[in-house]
Amino acid sequence: MKVLRTRSDLAFLEELRMRGRLVLVPTMGALHDGHLSLVREGAKLGPVVVTIFVNPAQFGPGEDFESYPRTLERDLELLRDLPVAAVFAPKTDTVYSGGEEVTVQPGRRGRGLCGGDRPGHFAGVLTVVAKLFGLIRPDVAVFGRKDAQQCLVIDQMVADLCMSVQLVDIPTCREDDGLAMSSRNRYLSARDRERALCLSSALRKGRALVAEGRHRREAIVSAMREELRDTDGIEYAEVRNVPDLETQGPLTGRVLLAVAARVGAARLIDNFVLQVEEGAAGVTVTDSCLLGTGDIS
Ligand code: AMP
Repeated sequence: MKVLRTRSDLAFLEELRMRGRLVLVPTMGALHDGHLSLVREGAKLGPVVVTIFVNPAQFGPGEDFESYPRTLERDLELLRDLPVAAVFAPKTDTVYSGGEEVTVQPGRRGRGLCGGDRPGHFAGVLTVVAKLFGLIRPDVAVFGRKDAQQCLVIDQMVADLCMSVQLVDIPTCREDDGLAMSSRNRYLSARDRERALCLSSALRKGRALVAEGRHRREAIVSAMREELRDTDGIEYAEVRNVPDLETQGPLTGRVLLAVAARVGAARLIDNFVLQVEEGAAGVTVTDSCLLGTGDIS
Protein backbone atom coordinates (compact mmCIF):
# COMPACT_ATOMS: atom_id res chain seq x y z
CA MET A 1 0.00 0.00 0.00
CA LYS A 2 1.55 3.23 -1.19
CA VAL A 3 0.89 6.45 0.74
CA LEU A 4 0.66 9.49 -1.54
CA ARG A 5 0.73 13.03 -0.17
CA THR A 6 1.41 15.42 -3.07
CA ARG A 7 0.07 15.95 -6.58
CA SER A 8 3.31 14.66 -8.08
CA ASP A 9 3.01 11.46 -5.98
CA LEU A 10 -0.15 10.74 -8.01
CA ALA A 11 2.06 9.69 -10.95
CA PHE A 12 2.12 6.31 -9.15
CA LEU A 13 -1.51 5.82 -10.18
CA GLU A 14 -0.42 5.23 -13.78
CA GLU A 15 1.01 1.87 -12.66
CA LEU A 16 -2.31 0.94 -11.07
CA ARG A 17 -4.27 1.89 -14.17
CA MET A 18 -2.41 -0.85 -16.05
CA ARG A 19 -3.71 -3.40 -13.53
CA GLY A 20 -7.44 -2.77 -14.12
CA ARG A 21 -10.22 -0.31 -13.47
CA LEU A 22 -9.05 2.27 -10.94
CA VAL A 23 -11.47 2.41 -8.00
CA LEU A 24 -11.72 5.51 -5.81
CA VAL A 25 -13.04 5.37 -2.24
CA PRO A 26 -13.24 8.96 -0.92
CA THR A 27 -13.32 9.39 2.88
CA MET A 28 -12.65 12.00 5.52
CA GLY A 29 -10.75 9.45 7.64
CA ALA A 30 -11.54 8.40 11.23
CA LEU A 31 -12.27 5.11 9.55
CA HIS A 32 -14.77 2.54 10.82
CA ASP A 33 -16.16 -0.70 9.43
CA GLY A 34 -18.53 1.21 7.13
CA HIS A 35 -15.58 2.75 5.31
CA LEU A 36 -13.81 -0.61 5.26
CA SER A 37 -16.81 -2.25 3.61
CA LEU A 38 -16.56 0.30 0.77
CA VAL A 39 -12.92 -0.70 0.34
CA ARG A 40 -13.70 -4.43 0.33
CA GLU A 41 -16.47 -4.03 -2.24
CA GLY A 42 -14.39 -1.67 -4.34
CA ALA A 43 -11.49 -4.12 -4.40
CA LYS A 44 -13.72 -6.60 -6.24
CA LEU A 45 -13.72 -4.18 -9.17
CA GLY A 46 -10.06 -3.15 -9.46
CA PRO A 47 -7.11 -1.57 -7.64
CA VAL A 48 -8.41 0.70 -4.86
CA VAL A 49 -7.24 4.23 -4.03
CA VAL A 50 -8.60 5.50 -0.71
CA THR A 51 -8.53 9.26 -0.17
CA ILE A 52 -8.40 10.68 3.34
CA PHE A 53 -9.18 14.36 3.32
CA VAL A 54 -11.28 16.46 5.71
CA ASN A 55 -12.83 18.82 3.20
CA PRO A 56 -13.21 22.32 4.68
CA ALA A 57 -15.64 23.41 1.96
CA GLN A 58 -18.41 21.07 3.09
CA PHE A 59 -18.50 22.34 6.69
CA GLY A 60 -20.59 25.40 7.52
CA PRO A 61 -19.71 28.09 10.06
CA GLY A 62 -20.07 26.67 13.57
CA GLU A 63 -19.89 23.06 12.36
CA ASP A 64 -17.27 20.56 13.53
CA PHE A 65 -14.49 21.09 10.93
CA GLU A 66 -11.86 21.96 13.58
CA SER A 67 -12.83 19.18 15.96
CA TYR A 68 -13.54 16.52 13.30
CA PRO A 69 -11.50 13.44 14.34
CA ARG A 70 -8.18 13.14 12.50
CA THR A 71 -6.59 9.72 13.08
CA LEU A 72 -4.33 9.25 10.06
CA GLU A 73 -1.84 6.79 11.57
CA ARG A 74 -4.59 4.51 12.84
CA ASP A 75 -6.47 4.81 9.52
CA LEU A 76 -3.35 3.72 7.62
CA GLU A 77 -2.94 0.74 9.97
CA LEU A 78 -6.53 -0.35 9.29
CA LEU A 79 -6.10 0.02 5.53
CA ARG A 80 -2.83 -1.96 5.51
CA ASP A 81 -4.85 -5.08 6.38
CA LEU A 82 -7.11 -4.61 3.35
CA PRO A 83 -6.67 -4.84 -0.43
CA VAL A 84 -5.72 -1.17 -0.86
CA ALA A 85 -3.27 -0.20 -3.60
CA ALA A 86 -2.79 3.42 -2.54
CA VAL A 87 -3.93 6.02 -0.03
CA PHE A 88 -4.00 9.68 -1.04
CA ALA A 89 -3.89 11.86 2.09
CA PRO A 90 -3.21 15.38 0.85
CA LYS A 91 -2.83 18.60 2.82
CA THR A 92 -5.57 21.19 2.37
CA ASP A 93 -3.45 23.35 0.05
CA THR A 94 -2.69 20.36 -2.16
CA VAL A 95 -6.39 20.17 -3.00
CA TYR A 96 -7.32 23.87 -2.70
CA SER A 97 -5.01 26.47 -4.24
CA GLY A 98 -6.99 29.19 -2.50
CA GLY A 99 -7.56 31.00 -5.80
CA GLU A 100 -10.56 28.98 -6.98
CA GLU A 101 -13.40 30.86 -8.64
CA VAL A 102 -15.48 27.92 -9.86
CA THR A 103 -17.55 25.60 -7.68
CA VAL A 104 -20.05 22.88 -8.49
CA GLN A 105 -23.60 23.60 -7.30
CA PRO A 106 -26.17 20.84 -6.76
CA GLY A 107 -29.48 20.95 -8.58
CA ARG A 108 -32.88 19.95 -7.27
CA ARG A 109 -31.61 16.85 -5.50
CA GLY A 110 -29.58 19.08 -3.20
CA ARG A 111 -32.66 20.89 -1.89
CA GLY A 112 -34.01 20.06 1.56
CA LEU A 113 -32.86 17.19 3.79
CA CYS A 114 -29.16 17.78 4.56
CA GLY A 115 -29.07 20.52 1.90
CA GLY A 116 -31.68 22.47 3.87
CA ASP A 117 -30.01 22.04 7.24
CA ARG A 118 -26.48 22.64 5.96
CA PRO A 119 -26.51 25.44 3.35
CA GLY A 120 -23.52 25.16 1.03
CA HIS A 121 -22.77 21.62 2.18
CA PHE A 122 -23.44 19.88 -1.12
CA ALA A 123 -21.64 22.53 -3.16
CA GLY A 124 -18.63 21.77 -0.93
CA VAL A 125 -19.07 18.03 -1.42
CA LEU A 126 -19.52 18.26 -5.20
CA THR A 127 -16.59 20.62 -5.61
CA VAL A 128 -14.20 18.36 -3.70
CA VAL A 129 -15.50 15.21 -5.41
CA ALA A 130 -15.00 16.89 -8.80
CA LYS A 131 -11.47 17.82 -7.73
CA LEU A 132 -10.76 14.25 -6.59
CA PHE A 133 -12.12 12.91 -9.88
CA GLY A 134 -9.82 15.35 -11.68
CA LEU A 135 -6.78 14.41 -9.61
CA ILE A 136 -7.27 10.62 -9.50
CA ARG A 137 -9.24 10.05 -12.75
CA PRO A 138 -10.95 6.91 -11.40
CA ASP A 139 -12.98 4.50 -13.52
CA VAL A 140 -15.24 3.68 -10.57
CA ALA A 141 -16.06 5.62 -7.39
CA VAL A 142 -17.63 3.96 -4.35
CA PHE A 143 -19.91 5.78 -1.90
CA GLY A 144 -21.95 4.76 1.14
CA ARG A 145 -25.73 4.60 0.96
CA LYS A 146 -25.74 6.09 4.48
CA ASP A 147 -25.22 9.48 2.78
CA ALA A 148 -28.08 8.89 0.36
CA GLN A 149 -28.61 12.47 -0.74
CA GLN A 150 -24.86 12.82 -1.29
CA CYS A 151 -24.89 9.77 -3.59
CA LEU A 152 -27.78 11.24 -5.56
CA VAL A 153 -26.30 14.72 -6.00
CA ILE A 154 -23.00 13.18 -7.11
CA ASP A 155 -24.90 10.97 -9.56
CA GLN A 156 -26.54 14.08 -11.01
CA MET A 157 -23.18 15.87 -11.28
CA VAL A 158 -21.64 12.91 -13.12
CA ALA A 159 -24.57 12.80 -15.55
CA ASP A 160 -24.89 16.56 -16.11
CA LEU A 161 -21.15 17.25 -16.42
CA CYS A 162 -20.56 14.14 -18.60
CA MET A 163 -17.97 12.70 -16.22
CA SER A 164 -16.85 9.23 -17.25
CA VAL A 165 -16.86 7.47 -13.92
CA GLN A 166 -19.11 4.65 -12.76
CA LEU A 167 -20.70 5.21 -9.33
CA VAL A 168 -21.46 2.40 -6.90
CA ASP A 169 -23.40 2.72 -3.62
CA ILE A 170 -22.78 0.30 -0.77
CA PRO A 171 -25.27 -0.61 2.01
CA THR A 172 -25.01 1.10 5.39
CA CYS A 173 -22.95 -0.80 7.96
CA ARG A 174 -24.60 -0.88 11.36
CA GLU A 175 -23.62 -1.86 14.87
CA ASP A 176 -25.37 -5.01 16.15
CA ASP A 177 -28.08 -2.91 17.79
CA GLY A 178 -28.90 -1.05 14.54
CA LEU A 179 -26.95 2.20 15.02
CA ALA A 180 -25.49 3.28 11.68
CA MET A 181 -21.71 3.50 11.93
CA SER A 182 -20.39 7.06 11.72
CA SER A 183 -17.18 8.86 12.52
CA ARG A 184 -19.36 11.19 14.58
CA ASN A 185 -20.60 8.39 16.87
CA ARG A 186 -17.45 8.99 18.90
CA TYR A 187 -18.98 12.29 20.04
CA LEU A 188 -21.70 10.30 21.88
CA SER A 189 -21.63 9.67 25.64
CA ALA A 190 -22.83 6.20 26.77
CA ARG A 191 -26.29 7.61 27.46
CA ASP A 192 -26.44 9.46 24.15
CA ARG A 193 -25.30 6.29 22.38
CA GLU A 194 -28.43 4.58 23.76
CA ARG A 195 -30.66 7.49 22.77
CA ALA A 196 -29.18 7.47 19.25
CA LEU A 197 -30.83 4.10 18.61
CA CYS A 198 -34.10 5.93 18.02
CA LEU A 199 -32.92 6.95 14.53
CA SER A 200 -32.86 3.38 13.26
CA SER A 201 -36.01 2.50 15.19
CA ALA A 202 -37.80 5.46 13.55
CA LEU A 203 -36.80 4.07 10.15
CA ARG A 204 -38.00 0.58 11.07
CA LYS A 205 -41.30 2.08 12.14
CA GLY A 206 -41.57 3.97 8.84
CA ARG A 207 -40.76 0.85 6.88
CA ALA A 208 -43.42 -1.15 8.72
CA LEU A 209 -46.04 1.46 7.83
CA VAL A 210 -45.02 1.44 4.16
CA ALA A 211 -45.25 -2.37 4.22
CA GLU A 212 -48.76 -2.11 5.69
CA GLY A 213 -49.70 -0.16 2.57
CA ARG A 214 -49.91 3.27 4.22
CA HIS A 215 -49.74 5.84 1.43
CA ARG A 216 -49.88 9.12 3.30
CA ARG A 217 -46.41 10.52 3.74
CA GLU A 218 -47.61 12.67 6.63
CA ALA A 219 -48.64 9.59 8.64
CA ILE A 220 -45.26 7.93 8.08
CA VAL A 221 -43.41 11.13 8.90
CA SER A 222 -45.34 11.71 12.10
CA ALA A 223 -44.71 8.12 13.25
CA MET A 224 -40.97 8.59 12.60
CA ARG A 225 -40.96 11.94 14.41
CA GLU A 226 -42.68 10.34 17.37
CA GLU A 227 -39.82 7.82 17.63
CA LEU A 228 -37.33 10.71 17.52
CA ARG A 229 -39.02 12.68 20.29
CA ASP A 230 -36.25 12.04 22.88
CA THR A 231 -33.46 13.43 20.73
CA ASP A 232 -32.11 16.92 21.32
CA GLY A 233 -33.72 18.17 18.13
CA ILE A 234 -35.15 16.63 14.99
CA GLU A 235 -33.60 18.16 11.87
CA TYR A 236 -35.78 16.23 9.47
CA ALA A 237 -37.84 13.09 9.04
CA GLU A 238 -38.94 12.63 5.45
CA VAL A 239 -40.26 10.26 2.83
CA ARG A 240 -38.92 10.94 -0.67
CA ASN A 241 -38.84 9.18 -4.00
CA VAL A 242 -35.53 8.06 -5.54
CA PRO A 243 -33.65 9.29 -7.54
CA ASP A 244 -35.07 12.83 -7.79
CA LEU A 245 -36.14 13.12 -4.15
CA GLU A 246 -39.70 14.21 -4.96
CA THR A 247 -41.93 14.89 -1.97
CA GLN A 248 -45.19 14.18 -3.84
CA GLY A 249 -46.56 11.31 -5.86
CA PRO A 250 -47.19 7.62 -5.33
CA LEU A 251 -45.05 5.76 -2.83
CA THR A 252 -43.93 3.05 -5.23
CA GLY A 253 -40.63 2.18 -6.84
CA ARG A 254 -37.58 3.31 -4.89
CA VAL A 255 -38.50 5.19 -1.73
CA LEU A 256 -36.14 6.90 0.72
CA LEU A 257 -36.98 7.19 4.41
CA ALA A 258 -34.51 9.68 5.88
CA VAL A 259 -33.97 11.10 9.37
CA ALA A 260 -31.51 13.53 10.94
CA ALA A 261 -31.40 14.54 14.58
CA ARG A 262 -29.11 16.01 17.19
CA VAL A 263 -28.15 13.69 20.03
CA GLY A 264 -25.85 15.27 22.59
CA ALA A 265 -22.89 16.73 20.72
CA ALA A 266 -23.56 14.82 17.49
CA ARG A 267 -25.72 15.50 14.46
CA LEU A 268 -26.67 12.04 13.21
CA ILE A 269 -28.32 10.94 9.97
CA ASP A 270 -29.71 7.62 8.84
CA ASN A 271 -31.96 6.28 6.10
CA PHE A 272 -33.54 3.22 4.54
CA VAL A 273 -33.81 2.84 0.77
CA LEU A 274 -36.81 0.66 -0.09
CA GLN A 275 -38.16 -0.91 -3.22
CA VAL A 276 -41.93 -0.72 -2.89
CA GLU A 277 -44.13 -2.80 -5.20
CA GLU A 278 -47.89 -2.95 -5.20
CA GLY A 279 -49.47 -6.15 -6.45
CA ALA A 280 -52.66 -8.15 -6.14
CA ALA A 281 -51.37 -9.63 -2.88
CA GLY A 282 -50.67 -6.21 -1.37
CA VAL A 283 -47.51 -4.21 -0.89
CA THR A 284 -44.06 -5.78 -0.88
CA VAL A 285 -41.09 -3.90 0.50
CA THR A 286 -37.47 -4.92 0.01
CA ASP A 287 -34.17 -3.13 0.54
CA SER A 288 -32.87 -1.31 -2.49
CA CYS A 289 -29.76 0.39 -3.76
CA LEU A 290 -29.84 4.05 -4.81
CA LEU A 291 -27.91 3.96 -8.07
CA GLY A 292 -27.93 1.50 -10.94
CA THR A 293 -29.25 -1.99 -10.39
CA GLY A 294 -27.27 -2.91 -7.29
CA ASP A 295 -25.29 -5.42 -9.30
CA ILE A 296 -21.71 -4.51 -8.38
CA SER A 297 -19.62 -5.43 -11.40
P1 AMP B 1 -17.05 10.16 5.42
O1 AMP B 1 -15.66 9.79 5.85
O2 AMP B 1 -18.02 10.27 6.54
O3 AMP B 1 -17.09 11.31 4.45
O4 AMP B 1 -17.57 8.92 4.58
C1 AMP B 1 -16.84 8.41 3.50
C2 AMP B 1 -17.69 7.42 2.77
O5 AMP B 1 -18.04 6.37 3.67
C3 AMP B 1 -19.00 8.02 2.25
O6 AMP B 1 -19.26 7.49 0.96
C4 AMP B 1 -19.99 7.55 3.27
O7 AMP B 1 -21.30 7.45 2.76
C5 AMP B 1 -19.44 6.18 3.62
N1 AMP B 1 -19.96 5.73 4.92
C6 AMP B 1 -20.00 6.43 6.07
N2 AMP B 1 -20.59 5.71 7.04
C7 AMP B 1 -20.94 4.53 6.48
C8 AMP B 1 -21.60 3.36 6.96
N3 AMP B 1 -22.03 3.24 8.22
N4 AMP B 1 -21.79 2.32 6.09
C9 AMP B 1 -21.36 2.41 4.81
N5 AMP B 1 -20.73 3.49 4.30
C10 AMP B 1 -20.53 4.53 5.12
